[in-house]
Amino acid sequence: MFCRCENRFGAEPNELVCPVCLGYPGTLPVINQHAVDLATRLALALGCVVERRSVFARKNYFYPDLPKGYQISQYDEPLAEGGSVPLPTGGNVRLHRIHLEEDAGKLLHEVPGGGPLPGRSLVDFNRCGVPLVEIVTEPEIRSPEDAQACLQTLHQILLYTGASDGNMEEGSLRCDANLSLRPAGSDALGTKTEVKNLNSFRHVARALGYERERQLHILAAGGRVEQETRSFEPASGVTRSLRSKEEAHDYRYFPEPDLRPLVLTEGRIERQAELLPELPWVKSARFRNAYGLRAEEAALLSGSASLAAYYERAVAAHPTGAKSIANWVMTEILRELKQQDVQLIAPERLAAIVALVDSGELSTTAAKDVLSEAWGSEESPDQIVDRLGLRQVRDDRQLEAWADAAVAANGKAAAAYRDGRKQALGYLVGQVMKASRGTAEPQAAREILRRKLA
Ligand SMILES: [Zn+2]
Repeated sequence: MFCRCENRFGAEPNELVCPVCLGYPGTLPVINQHAVDLATRLALALGCVVERRSVFARKNYFYPDLPKGYQISQYDEPLAEGGSVPLPTGGNVRLHRIHLEEDAGKLLHEVPGGGPLPGRSLVDFNRCGVPLVEIVTEPEIRSPEDAQACLQTLHQILLYTGASDGNMEEGSLRCDANLSLRPAGSDALGTKTEVKNLNSFRHVARALGYERERQLHILAAGGRVEQETRSFEPASGVTRSLRSKEEAHDYRYFPEPDLRPLVLTEGRIERQAELLPELPWVKSARFRNAYGLRAEEAALLSGSASLAAYYERAVAAHPTGAKSIANWVMTEILRELKQQDVQLIAPERLAAIVALVDSGELSTTAAKDVLSEAWGSEESPDQIVDRLGLRQVRDDRQLEAWADAAVAANGKAAAAYRDGRKQALGYLVGQVMKASRGTAEPQAAREILRRKLA
């Protein structure tokens, strides 16, 4: 945020450091313009008011992963205020503020890849000074599930705007969740507790669910909830106290004397507004209207900008197949995407396969074989269909020949059908499919058999 160190996860400890982020005496911070621009774009995407002037402040505390003895953050004049996060259920979570700050380093309590270090800790300063935005909501989320949904939507917006890679396992997105209870009908919120550093969507919902029950038990027994910071243990699903209010820090905030206030020109903010992509909920609504998708389908396909772009490229190559392409992308393509390091089949090639199904030349079952052949191959779907002999046969003479053979070889089934046992027809269709090695168009085969047996 204030030096030129690379921001990269997974480097050797203390490899990505310099005198500025290590807090050497005499060094001076310089604001990272790109970080400011990304935070501005994110704030605009969330509908915040971006302040023309904001102020960096020193947040003073001592901790081994914070070599300067203070963190440069923003306090009473943050970068942005207001705005909201839309929930998939239709509601909105209003935002209080968004501010910029620098991250702290990391304490390791065991040797990386090795055993525990009794009584000792190691410090990795690589993360020290990494740009961070803190996004603070108003206290108006009413359930652990909504909290999880809110964080998931935020995650989506981070990826859409390119403000973060959103990788929670690498700590690119972390959540501090606060919870307080109040009697039904009352406006005053009770004492809150904070669960720190939640690094998965599910953990947010589980930690808050546990915390709600814990506070409820205390209050039901006539006790008082302590204001404190807690941690969540995923294995047991419980939260534990980290520090209470008595140990709470007095951060003695004051304006950072080494930095002038951050002043953004109108033009700079406008440029970020122009760079905003079509946002997920806007895209989702457009998918519903333009392609006739159901709400859940549209939400799934607009869930990531790259998946949405993939879908639209395929639709562009086969415009009448928007619905069927949606089905293929949501099943076959997404399933492959879950594997790591998958090179996706080009959307135009997927569209060509779907077009063959839509025109009746390829059965859905055979299309799946073609898809797996076409994945990572240069051959066109058309060539693959011919090479594998999968093109569906709708030629009446060929179908009639198979049907005659099936009736002749299965006299019992034919007689049963004529006696009114209609399910016998299915068996005969199956025989035609078998004889045609799956290439007979089943509907046409069924019609021909029905006519012959009538
Ligand atoms: Zn540095």
